[in-house]
Amino acid sequence: MTKVIIVGAGIGGTACALALLKHGLDVTLLEQASAFGEVGAGVQMSPNANRVIDALGRLDAVLDVAVRPEAAVATIWDTGEPMRVIPYGEKVLERWGYPYIHLYRPDLITALSAGLPDGLAKMASKVVAVREEPGRVGAELASGDIVWGDVLVGADGIHSTVQKHLHGDHPARFTGNMAWRGLCPGDVARDMGVPIVSGLCWGPGSHFVNYYVGGENGVGRYMNWVGTVPYDGSAIESWTAEGRIEDAVRDYDGWHERIRDIIAATPKAMKWALHDRDPLPFWSQGRVTLVGDACHPMLPFMAQGAAQSIEDGYVLARCLTETSGSTEDALLRYQRNRMERTAWVQEGSRRNEKVFHLSDPVAVAERNARLMAEVKTNPDGVSADQSRLFSHDVVADPLAD
Ligand SMILES: Cc1cc2nc3c(=O)[nH]c(=O)nc-3n(C[C@H](O)[C@H](O)[C@H](O)COP(=O)(O)OP(=O)(O)OC[C@H]3O[C@@H](n4cnc5c(N)ncnc54)[C@H](O)[C@@H]3O)c2cc1C
Repeated sequence: MTKVIIVGAGIGGTACALALLKHGLDVTLLEQASAFGEVGAGVQMSPNANRVIDALGRLDAVLDVAVRPEAAVATIWDTGEPMRVIPYGEKVLERWGYPYIHLYRPDLITALSAGLPDGLAKMASKVVAVREEPGRVGAELASGDIVWGDVLVGADGIHSTVQKHLHGDHPARFTGNMAWRGLCPGDVARDMGVPIVSGLCWGPGSHFVNYYVGGENGVGRYMNWVGTVPYDGSAIESWTAEGRIEDAVRDYDGWHERIRDIIAATPKAMKWALHDRDPLPFWSQGRVTLVGDACHPMLPFMAQGAAQSIEDGYVLARCLTETSGSTEDALLRYQRNRMERTAWVQEGSRRNEKVFHLSDPVAVAERNARLMAEVKTNPDGVSADQSRLFSHDVVADPLAD
């Protein structure tokens, strides 16, 4: 049986392990942290990802802890008036067969990892190097031990050791954006009258996203928010750092008071320097390949990084079991099936940065008028990009050769 070593047990690595097991492969999951964990923040899961989660047998567990937004609502930054409302809820379910949901990240990783057999994930296993020998590939651990297998998958995130093994040391690009991330207590947000929607607000040079997460009986324990602001990067040395709430409120000076109230009611906020990469020229070489942020880190402006990593793992499992040639052929087939789509999402996320952060009043008025006109001609408000994203079915669609 093909033995696959996965480096990294984030959302991408964990989903990949579930997909490989489902396809009858032997899996070892190596994670540097001492336990499964995710940053205490929110994540949106779109129908294309939920379709895969269902195939992995984890959808019920995920839905138990999810919040389902009724709509995606874009508001005007200084008045708070709705500018565009796209119905989610039943509409999304009817159209794509799976819901659009919001999750507290630790709940998502718990729901996914609970599907793994006990002991399959080896925690406190930091991989420091990849070893390649004829007929096998190895993950060298910080302890000096080497775990050998037939295939090695780098699911080790944006600063991936496995990606460096394939491409050399080229740091990810700082995008000039910094994201504030916080969790306001859900009760406080409900008292403010914040509805159960996917909230989005574009202002000059910045934007703000907010949604409930931590579903208990469909009610969110927290109001998750992400405030993206421009930043010169000079003072951000680390990937994440705790910031001061008063600084976050100041960054939203002049914005609608509800946004500033949500930030002010948050006990603690983190600052994230946002990085991405240009699409890589290849993901697979010999017996080594990549999934998730290790191969396609992107700005979070299409809310698709984790969703794409979940798709990756399923396609990889299918290529390894549905390809008649060698293991190397299967890994090359995997990259052929994935690279165009993820490059499109990486580029779309960069395009959205420009659309979200317009400052020139004329350009802003044109954008807003265009969006409102779109709603009139297309009451469902679904864009061609969303259709392309959500309808993609890596479970049932035939693989390309
Ligand atoms: C502000 C923000 C909002 C976002 N919102 C969304 C959203 O709404 N929807 C969405 O789909 N995506 C979203 N994303 C993107 C999403 O968070 C990432 O794309 C996703 O988490 C990537 O998962 P991953 O498993 O590939 O990598 P990671 O989550 O980075 O996991 C990598 C894992 O590998 C481990 N690891 C690293 N190096 C080693 C090593 N050498 N040895 C062993 N283990 C190692 C790490 O400890 C970690 O557990 C957002 C991102 C940001 C920054």
